[in-house]
Amino acid sequence: MTFARHPIALLLAAMLSQLVIGKVSDAAEVKPVCQAQQVQLQVLGSGGPELTDGRASTSYLIWVDKKARILVDFGSGAALNYEKARANPADLQAVLFSHFHVDHTADFPALVKGLGFTKFNDEIQVYGPTKNNGFPGVKEFLSALFDREHGAYAYLANATDPDASNQFKIEANEVPPTEGQVVRFELGDDTVLKAISIPHGAAPSLAWRVETRGCALTFSGDTSNSNKALEVLANGSDLFLAHNAAQENDSDAVARELHMMPSEIGRIAKAATVKQVVLSHRMLRTLGKEKETLQAIRKNYAGSVQFANDLQVFRLGDAVKH
Ligand SMILES: [Zn+2]
Repeated sequence: MTFARHPIALLLAAMLSQLVIGKVSDAAEVKPVCQAQQVQLQVLGSGGPELTDGRASTSYLIWVDKKARILVDFGSGAALNYEKARANPADLQAVLFSHFHVDHTADFPALVKGLGFTKFNDEIQVYGPTKNNGFPGVKEFLSALFDREHGAYAYLANATDPDASNQFKIEANEVPPTEGQVVRFELGDDTVLKAISIPHGAAPSLAWRVETRGCALTFSGDTSNSNKALEVLANGSDLFLAHNAAQENDSDAVARELHMMPSEIGRIAKAATVKQVVLSHRMLRTLGKEKETLQAIRKNYAGSVQFANDLQVFRLGDAVKH
């Protein structure tokens, strides 16, 4: 028996086909019709790390059937805006982290502590990248916060300790570097999460795609997209949330290294045939430059483009005509 036909090889192949979906098989998928009225994106934080932009740092809330189901990042200010959005904590299923910079994670301990004052008694699935030499992965991030011996908030250790009794549990799900492939996870029986590795300085980073009710929302994360991953992940998305943290030909070399220029956002949106673009992670270097940003995007993409503000709700299918 050759190895390729060995039962273990066949089993491995079957498992891999469940876990990893590359560009080719994605393109072959028949996309279901998006039940647009059932899915909404609410921006909890439309800013980056700055203290003078008047915005909460990065965070997004996905509403499904009027329930606040999934959070993508949870930067500073997100906890207050989660309250203002009137999200019911009992409906929370998952938190997807793009990377472990402060502006994407700082309010997470406040979420965990706050859940203890609600009737929430389920599991929260927390997803994020694996560690590298300079940054924690999702497991190390949770451990740094909640480990019983060393955690900054060791008094909340029961939430992540599988052997301890606690009102609710936090479960870490690591996403190793995806090597250009799209990795797939099932969330409950009606939602699929997809991730792909993106370059963002030294921090292991992910872009996320959430598929539910036939709709697909893609979140760029922070990246220059130099590995061309985003057009693969965003393919056919109903909404592409892109981070607008660098100007076109930004004079700040670090900004150009870490973030996409508007023309790149437009190129991705066109290549992936997304239905609408929402711009967030707005920073002082891009705020007030909306006209120039839109012009640069328009070189490549003619569809709907909107600039996000805190607490704004985006309905799928509510594309803006220009
Ligand atoms: Zn950021």
